[in-house]
Amino acid sequence: MREELGDYMPRSRFTLVCGVLGVCFAVFAAWLIGGWGGPDTVLAVSDLGSLLAGGFAAGCAALTTRASRGRQRRAWGALTIALAGWFFGDAVWAYTELVQGVGTAPFPSLSDAGYLVFPVAACLALLLLPIGTLGQSQTRPLLDGVIIAGSLFVIMWTTGLDEVFRLGREDWFAFAVSVAYPITDIVLLSVALLMLTRARSGQRGLVVVFTLAMAVMAVSDSLFVLLNANGSYTSGALVDAGWVAGLLLLAVAAMMGLRSADIDFGPARPGSQTALWLPYVPLPLAVALGANDDGSPTLMIAGLVVVSAVVARQLIIAEENRRLLVTVADQALRDPLTGLANRALFRDRLDHAVALRIRDGRHLAVLTIDLDDFKLVNDSLGHPAGDALLKSVAVRIVGCVGEGDTVARVGGDEFAVLLEDCSEPPIVLAHRIFDAFDQPFSVEGQEVFMRPSVGLSTGQSPDEPATSAEALLKQADLAMYAAKRSEHGGVAAFTADMHRIDLREVDPPRDRDVTPRRSGSAGLQLFAQLRRAIDHAELSLVYQPKFAVPSGRMAGVEALVRWDHPERGLMLPDEFLPLARQNGLMGALTEAVVERAVRDAIAWRAEGTDVPFAINLFPPTLGDLELPNRIVRIVTDGGLSTDCLTVEITEDFLLGNVKRAGRVLEMLRDWQIRISIDDFGSGYSALSYLRELPIDELKLDRHFIAPMLTDERAEAIVRAIIDLTHRLGMTCVAEGVENAATAMMLADHGCDVIQGHYCSPPVNASEVLSVASPW
Ligand code: C2E
Ligand code: CA
Ligand code: CA
Repeated sequence: MREELGDYMPRSRFTLVCGVLGVCFAVFAAWLIGGWGGPDTVLAVSDLGSLLAGGFAAGCAALTTRASRGRQRRAWGALTIALAGWFFGDAVWAYTELVQGVGTAPFPSLSDAGYLVFPVAACLALLLLPIGTLGQSQTRPLLDGVIIAGSLFVIMWTTGLDEVFRLGREDWFAFAVSVAYPITDIVLLSVALLMLTRARSGQRGLVVVFTLAMAVMAVSDSLFVLLNANGSYTSGALVDAGWVAGLLLLAVAAMMGLRSADIDFGPARPGSQTALWLPYVPLPLAVALGANDDGSPTLMIAGLVVVSAVVARQLIIAEENRRLLVTVADQALRDPLTGLANRALFRDRLDHAVALRIRDGRHLAVLTIDLDDFKLVNDSLGHPAGDALLKSVAVRIVGCVGEGDTVARVGGDEFAVLLEDCSEPPIVLAHRIFDAFDQPFSVEGQEVFMRPSVGLSTGQSPDEPATSAEALLKQADLAMYAAKRSEHGGVAAFTADMHRIDLREVDPPRDRDVTPRRSGSAGLQLFAQLRRAIDHAELSLVYQPKFAVPSGRMAGVEALVRWDHPERGLMLPDEFLPLARQNGLMGALTEAVVERAVRDAIAWRAEGTDVPFAINLFPPTLGDLELPNRIVRIVTDGGLSTDCLTVEITEDFLLGNVKRAGRVLEMLRDWQIRISIDDFGSGYSALSYLRELPIDELKLDRHFIAPMLTDERAEAIVRAIIDLTHRLGMTCVAEGVENAATAMMLADHGCDVIQGHYCSPPVNASEVLSVASPW
């Protein structure tokens, strides 16, 4: 028994009720056997006991019906009807016997109508109970029951039932009713047995009790018919105890149903062997006996019913097998999660399409799609949410392409599309897929923003046509990586120069171990908002001026990013940059910062002052060879010359690929962009890079500046570094200058530029031109 509807029926109460029922039944049976109080009392006890048992069982079934849902509810409802029918029959019976005092009630009577409702509705209940595994037809056990019952009927008929029939010919109706009992019982019992072979472990207890009840009822019915045919049945005989036992067992089954929560379907699995051959056990004998008979119409009808049931059963099995085969074949080529084509099927279709292109010159295109930051969803919302998201993504992609195109899931968060019906330019379709991600996905009640990187190859690049499936896929992948690195575009078509991208250098976020700083869904939400803020230029900048020493002239400003969050208020870089860093948003953020700073610089220029400005660079972005070009383009597009720009970068970049970083710095330098080493002295310090790399400025870390007045060693270091920068032909900037005395001392030591709260805190763009000189 699994999860319990404990409120209704805790285990202790269940055990107690079962015990009480057992005792009651024992007393009841003993009474009938002992014949205490004479025949009249026994009759009354028998009839009332049976009535009580039926009423109790019907009540239990009704309760379970009320407490359950869906299909289970219908099953228990059917059992309630079955038991109510029985109760009605018993009530009529008891009335005729006890009130009208007829002794043993006549047969057949109105009560038989009630009794016969029972097997039909109980059979329905069994078939409705969600027993077995998903995908198994419920018609099959019914047909099986019909085959068994029909065969048994043929056997019974040919071995003497026809005699009984001939004798009882004058009361045809009575005969039909008495035959209806064993037949419906056999169907019911067979169905119960077949259900038992199907039941999975968690369902078995209930089905065993159910089957047992059916067996006891069926045996009692048969005994009744037998005794009745002999004319030896008297009410109050032990047969009555059999029915009561059956009724009580059904009450227990209903209580078990009440105790167990939803009986769930397991995964599809082949049906049991027993269920396959069991229905055919009585069939050969029935055929043998039936063939020898002279062929009464009754037998003919029974035979026809059995044959039809066998044929129908075989058809159902054949159909089930066919479906199973199709499913198996299909599963080998499908991604089980999304139902899209898998890598194997995609490759097969692509090979085919390439062959057609070579033969007929048909067009084709390959798109590869990779989700940015997918791992974040998995990490913060859990894998089921990740799976749900992938399914929704699959639906969106499929919604963008044509009927004849193949969409596949080729990796965790990677998809591929093969376009064969190129009725519109593939790049248009690539953009349509990209745009389909504009709307957030709803995952477990949360809005999740996803961005894809889409790479396209048509194999028709003039420099490098692709003629094989591999080449097409590789080109699409290269384009996809280029798209991922560009941060803004999201879509890229293959061009020959993309080979320059060293794939090992590309660090797509999905491969990184991304743990959002604010873990959980709050982190995810904040991340979605940050991405939005970056995309919609909602981040703002403040500027902290730097002043030349000793002139006191403003030497420039440093742009510092701020995020005016709708709920959290103004956020400082420390509160959101880690999130951007961990999730690959720094490139986009940098570009947004440069764009904003350029706009402000244009405004300052319009007021008559050119203000040089510095931006901060996230060291790993120096791995991106495209970065200098993008920054330069933004500056020159704004009509500014690039020499007004300084990039500040911490020594951390040396931890990465120094060669590549050096190339990027050279490229920036070629554009007269100044390079400043930020927080100098605080991090990685192999001074050799000062000799090798094109550096214009050192910004002395404020942790040396702040204690200068009181700590001689700090002062000595500052002096030495100022000296060093001058010898290397660089500018020295002291940051974090908080008071006049420190400023004086720095001036004494020959520091070129100072920056800090003493001179000016960071201010808004509109205030930059009115910041006064510190002296
Ligand atoms: P940073 O580049 O060293 O920037 C200087 C930080 O020191 C700023 O904090 C500034 O407000 C603060 N500061 C200025 N004067 C003083 C002073 O006299 N005393 C003290 N104690 N602090 C002072 P903020 O704006 O919170 O920036 C923190 C860091 O965030 C920056 O350090 C920088 O590494 C990073 N950051 C800021 N904006 C950007 C950006 O646009 N891109 C990148 N990649 N990083 C940024
Ligand atoms: Ca800085
Ligand atoms: Ca700094």
